[in-house]
Amino acid sequence: MFDVLIVGVGCAGYTAAVYTARYKLKTCIIGAEEGGMGQTAAEVGNWPGIIDIKGPDLMENFKKLALSFGEIVTHRIARIEKVEKTGSTFRLILQSGEQIEGKSIIFATGSSKRHLGAKGEERLSGKGVTYCATCDAFFYRGKTVAVIGGGDSAVEGAAIAAQVAKKVYLIHRRKEFRAEPYWIDRVQARDNVELVLERNVVEILGDAKVNGVKLDQPYKGSDLLALDGVFIEIGANPAVALPLQLGCGLDDRGFLLVDGTQATNVQGVFGAGDVTSASNHFAQFTTAAGEATVAANSVFNYLQHGV
Ligand code: NAP
Repeated sequence: MFDVLIVGVGCAGYTAAVYTARYKLKTCIIGAEEGGMGQTAAEVGNWPGIIDIKGPDLMENFKKLALSFGEIVTHRIARIEKVEKTGSTFRLILQSGEQIEGKSIIFATGSSKRHLGAKGEERLSGKGVTYCATCDAFFYRGKTVAVIGGGDSAVEGAAIAAQVAKKVYLIHRRKEFRAEPYWIDRVQARDNVELVLERNVVEILGDAKVNGVKLDQPYKGSDLLALDGVFIEIGANPAVALPLQLGCGLDDRGFLLVDGTQATNVQGVFGAGDVTSASNHFAQFTTAAGEATVAANSVFNYLQHGV
């Protein structure tokens, strides 16, 4: 029986584990996707105290620190099928059938990339359509690609892709970007990035692999753009399937609803990171780590005093 089950092996999960270990709580940290979304960051220039680091290297450091506390922390990479609560005990049921029990849970399950819903998208997924520009750009050296979206993921993705691709179209449905001006400046400094604004992609074209996209309105006289790859970066949906199995509430945008202590409406269940309604939905390493810190403290209080 663990004191706390931390579900998710990204920034929030590993940060929570550091704190629960220091509180001497017997911790099981478990998840299927090592490093979470942090793994996909090509450059991290906003983790305080480190001037510049690659996402996978930062996540490796997070993991190393969390696992440096010895036997108090058990680390598992596995897919969880189901979660149940019986009395005050929580049970995770893994895909393998194995069961793991704990007295409390922190959901740090993150989010998964949104799909566009354009014609041809699913058929060409993995054949030139991908959902992580910074992860996949390096396969498109010397090629022409498009990044779709106007947030940090899309604009960062376009800046990174421009380092290797011959040409990058950044296609966004509005004129204004949501992304940090830092990334917009990086994109504008490249002469191989072209902004295609106030346009939507309605179809992704190609037989065996992507060869272009169709726009909803002509751009420079044509509604077709010839491309070798399309990176769809239009945001992410919170991974709430497991919390929902326990009856946890969501906010009006579908994120796991937590209060100021990171507690959900289900006693003994807490949330941290991109999955939650906290931090004004601003999904950063810093906010995920902060929420995880609070969640671990709340678990400690809950186990000591039931609050
Ligand atoms: P996001 O901030 O939600 O932005 C999604 C973008 O996609 C928006 O520009 C949106 O357009 C567009 N979009 C959404 N649905 C669309 C559709 N159906 N068709 C066309 N365009 C669509 O998502 P994100 O960029 O993935 O970022 C998610 C979170 O992670 C944010 O909190 C972000 O700050 C964070 N993040 C941070 C970093 C970093 O710090 N370096 C990097 C990546 C992500 P509208 O603008 O018109 O709504």
